[in-house]
Amino acid sequence: MARKVSAVAGGVGTTMPVFAAAADGGIIVDVDGNQLIDLGSGIAVTTVGAANPRVVAAVTEQVAAFTHTCFMVTPYDGYVAVAEALNRLTPGDHDKRTALFNSGAEAVENAVKIARAYTKKDAVVVFDHAYHGRTNLTLAMTAKNKPYKHTFGPFAPEVYRVGGSYPYRDNERDGAVAAARALDQIEKQIGADNLAALVIEPVQGEGGFIEPAPGFLPALAAWCRDNGVVFVADEVQTGFARTGDMFASDREGVAPDLIVTAKGIAGGLPLSAVTGRAEIMSAPHEGGLGGTYGGNPIACAAALAAIETIEQDGLVERAREIETLVKARLGNIEDDRIGDIRGRGAMLAVELVNSGGTEPDPQLAKDVAKAAHAQGVIVLTCGTYGNVLRFLPPLTISDALLDDAFDVLAAALEATR
Ligand SMILES: *Cc1c(COP(=O)(O)O)cnc(C)c1O
Repeated sequence: MARKVSAVAGGVGTTMPVFAAAADGGIIVDVDGNQLIDLGSGIAVTTVGAANPRVVAAVTEQVAAFTHTCFMVTPYDGYVAVAEALNRLTPGDHDKRTALFNSGAEAVENAVKIARAYTKKDAVVVFDHAYHGRTNLTLAMTAKNKPYKHTFGPFAPEVYRVGGSYPYRDNERDGAVAAARALDQIEKQIGADNLAALVIEPVQGEGGFIEPAPGFLPALAAWCRDNGVVFVADEVQTGFARTGDMFASDREGVAPDLIVTAKGIAGGLPLSAVTGRAEIMSAPHEGGLGGTYGGNPIACAAALAAIETIEQDGLVERAREIETLVKARLGNIEDDRIGDIRGRGAMLAVELVNSGGTEPDPQLAKDVAKAAHAQGVIVLTCGTYGNVLRFLPPLTISDALLDDAFDVLAAALEATR
């Protein structure tokens, strides 16, 4: 840690002062030999584990063959195979195309570029509590000031934020009503004629694992279709079995025009994608999309292995089993500071509030996380108010480890009374 402090930029923080030596199957082994239970998956990345045998084999084979040629110079099969897999797996049976990038933020930026090229319009709508990344355009799209935006402006123009659906806090359980509220704001303040894209996380991630009320997403998607606006689902965190569906949009049968994926896509290697309707994806001129590393062959090999693992090992079903187990554990905790238990699949959370009320309690979330860390359980916090404990175990974790972790969490919560 002393070397980190003197060598690494202070802006790059760490949740825990623990240096990893090995990881897989829901355990991180640190350099002192301590074993920690991993309820974070490196922020929803290592869905298939952190050293999945299929991923390790595919990466090893690819790295020995070649590490890079640049797909824009001399293409290779892995990139095309990942595009085919995404076209097949993402919601909707329309004709699709895919472009690959490196990070979630880069893919979100490209989705906006593509939507603008297709619609020849400028404006982009995003929502309260949204998180879309840390580049300049995506910081404009991200809602929360600290730690993300503070001191880093000015931000990209033509990004407009409207109210979303947060059933626990806005008391609106009817998604159609919440959508009508947002659409009224969009029509009055921006206008469909100026609007290129509406970008939304089907379950909001960093903003607090907020599931919109049923009906909210379908109503927004229908309005976009009727108004010539590209409906973009940012499934960077929710994609690839995480929510108990291959994609969170599947739950309500929403077929986004464009879907952005990253995090869980490639077993820990950096890769991201924009997949969508062929006519929209083909709007940019040839050479208009790309990047030196986008769709790197090693990352593509890892993605194909991760996707094979998700499909062949039944990890969508496994995510649903994890939801049942974890929600039962959370439901058994009697504590009136638990304001809300929510999420889907292996993307679950509790929102902590003042006793019996709804006032956010970020200190409690911090204290419980810290106590869990001290007991060897890696748990992350999130939320606009910083008062949400979120659980993102790898889907390859065992029930025994989950039980162990939630024993620790329950005790940590109890100890703060
Ligand atoms: C993490 C995340 C991003 C940004 O991805 P990076 O790879 O960190 O750039 C964008 N959108 C959502 C929903 C995310 O969770």
